[in-house]
Amino acid sequence: MNEQSAENLRYRSTLSGRKRIVVKIGSSSLLHKGTGRMNFEMIDRLARVLSNLKNEGRDVILVSSGATAVGREVIQRAAEMPEHDSPITVKQALASVGQARLMMIYQKCFDDYNEVVGQVLMTKNTVLNHLSRYNIRNTFQELLKFGVIPIVNENDSVATYEYSVGDNDNLSAMVASLVHADLLILLSDIDGLYTDDPRTSSMAKFIDYVPQMNEAILKMGKESTGSSCGTGGMSTKLSAARIATASGCDMAILNAGEVGGIRRLIEGENVGTLFRAEPDDRFDLEEYIEEMDYGE
Ligand code: GLU
Repeated sequence: MNEQSAENLRYRSTLSGRKRIVVKIGSSSLLHKGTGRMNFEMIDRLARVLSNLKNEGRDVILVSSGATAVGREVIQRAAEMPEHDSPITVKQALASVGQARLMMIYQKCFDDYNEVVGQVLMTKNTVLNHLSRYNIRNTFQELLKFGVIPIVNENDSVATYEYSVGDNDNLSAMVASLVHADLLILLSDIDGLYTDDPRTSSMAKFIDYVPQMNEAILKMGKESTGSSCGTGGMSTKLSAARIATASGCDMAILNAGEVGGIRRLIEGENVGTLFRAEPDDRFDLEEYIEEMDYGE
């Protein structure tokens, strides 16, 4: 075993001590690929795993996408709305319906495990505006003190292009930074970071441990996920890793197909890709967000 592999395992053995965990799940993991209908089993398993983390005395925050996709499922069945390429106004309306429905389902699932959830919707401006940032941080603190599991999404119904974060990978890292979380877990439709896109390159090698974010790692980002819904590709996950690690928070990418991987990660197993926290005093979240290139 080389020095880096040994360090990886050593570092992973400390993850069981993490006290404040943010977990992000994307739209493509919440819906069945073939039908675009909701995957209730996935949501229920997620609620069970997160409730257990909470019962162990940890603070847990869930960042969930899916508002637009769930809205599309509901409205499409009622009125046969056209699928993709919907104008922003349609997406905003779908998100309004879908977000409410998503929360209803989360509430039911978490209730089975005696957990109370609260909805927090934010936009890029919530982080950039001094007063809103102050307010949202206080809201998170109070919710966690009450023992509530906050469920966060972008406020898609009000966020137009220039006000939106656009993807929940970056949003979850912003949340982790705001609440001083010590572990951020991105559940994805891929096992973690590869040197190249494993779907198109047979040479792609899996990377299980990133001790330090650098140019070579950032270059490995790919724009597309290959999924039919959601916006986050590997490049947004690497941007999230930059925000999280610089803010002093470890970050892991895990395959959402195996929600149980969260438990295995916390117990120190070598699952997914782990980005080691590397607090950087010069890192300025506001400045980073202002300079982010969201694409259109
Ligand atoms: N906020 C969007 C939604 O809930 C999804 C953003 C993303 O795909 O990361 O529909």
